[in-house]
Amino acid sequence: MPTYGRLPVAFQRGDGAYLYDNQERRYIDGVSGIAVTNLGHTHAAVTEAVCEQMHTLAHTSNLYRIAPQEMLATLLTSATGMEQVFFCNSGAEGNEAAIKLARCYGHERGIDIPHIIVLEGAFHGRTMGALAATGNPKIQQAFEPMLSGFVRAPRDDIAAIHAIADLNPNVVAILLEPVQGEGGVRQLNSDYLMQLRALCDQLGWLLMFDEVQSGNGRCGALYAFQRLGVIPDVLVTAKGLGNGIPIGACMARGAAAQVLGPGDHGTTYGGNFIACSAGTAVITTLVKDRLWERADPIREALLAGFHRTLKYPDVVSEIRGLGLMIGIELNMPCDQIVTTALAEGLLVNMTAGNTVRLLPPLIMSLADAQLLGSGVAEVINTLYSDIEVAS
Ligand code: PLP
Repeated sequence: MPTYGRLPVAFQRGDGAYLYDNQERRYIDGVSGIAVTNLGHTHAAVTEAVCEQMHTLAHTSNLYRIAPQEMLATLLTSATGMEQVFFCNSGAEGNEAAIKLARCYGHERGIDIPHIIVLEGAFHGRTMGALAATGNPKIQQAFEPMLSGFVRAPRDDIAAIHAIADLNPNVVAILLEPVQGEGGVRQLNSDYLMQLRALCDQLGWLLMFDEVQSGNGRCGALYAFQRLGVIPDVLVTAKGLGNGIPIGACMARGAAAQVLGPGDHGTTYGGNFIACSAGTAVITTLVKDRLWERADPIREALLAGFHRTLKYPDVVSEIRGLGLMIGIELNMPCDQIVTTALAEGLLVNMTAGNTVRLLPPLIMSLADAQLLGSGVAEVINTLYSDIEVAS
């Protein structure tokens, strides 16, 4: 079904920070499959782990114990302080698990119609629960009616959360991305997150972080919450956890870890041998090499290249994000940026209309990061000078 507006390119192989199209033309990958291949393409440890697992055993049901799933759960819980993990296949599914967990948590506390606070500009996925939690009417309208039970609040506005708390006794949880991705690459204020943590503790609400995009090393820590210093009760991730093999995880600690029991949730594929062998290779590699420590230097190199080359600094409204979630908001027409960059051998993405989103892998060299940054600036220079000439 034509659900994607696809670009006119087909890649046939990848290597580290590069992709090669079917003419063997090389591209610098500033997108990483939208924050998936954080370790770069065809990373040896992931490739070997998956191939070896495929030769041994690909799948059994979750009716049986699955050693690679237990191994990955142990790695994740010891690296995050979470206590339990439910494995699924995608980010949206991870959020569905979190939504079900929060509702069940509410019911256990005598709240029959539990509400979850979600934020403006949020993106949590395309399944019906995750879509209802998403703060973008454009992608919701065609699929009305939305699932009920969500209360929307503006970003970084603690007074708005207090106002909801005063009026609404049915709130059981807050779900948010500590760094919003699709919503324009916006890191939430860390004071705001700390105040939310205190309020959740006071009112018995669950603080649930969607780190589908911000997690797995991308934001300069294994998970962004570890850098921001605010520990959630529920942590959802996916994308970079498998470096290309579909996997999602909904983790929980404390009371949240005790909510779901046998029969409450399930999935055929979630946590299977292949996905968990990939996840184990990813987390082991990230932790062993502390690869997240490369996020800030790569960001700096990229932005240095960008600023050095950009001829029209006034076209930049704001540069946002954390680590290797980089958002460059522009105040010029942006519809040709992605295709012009593609023609120059650079993969970039646009989000929230006018924000260039760059999500390079953690293994990108500083030289390539500079090239990517200066390449993006050159694209802007070219398009902006055309606009100036035309006006
Ligand atoms: N949550 C966040 C923060 C995301 O960025 C995304 C995808 O972009 C999702 C959830 C949905 O993940 P998936 O596409 O794997 O369902």
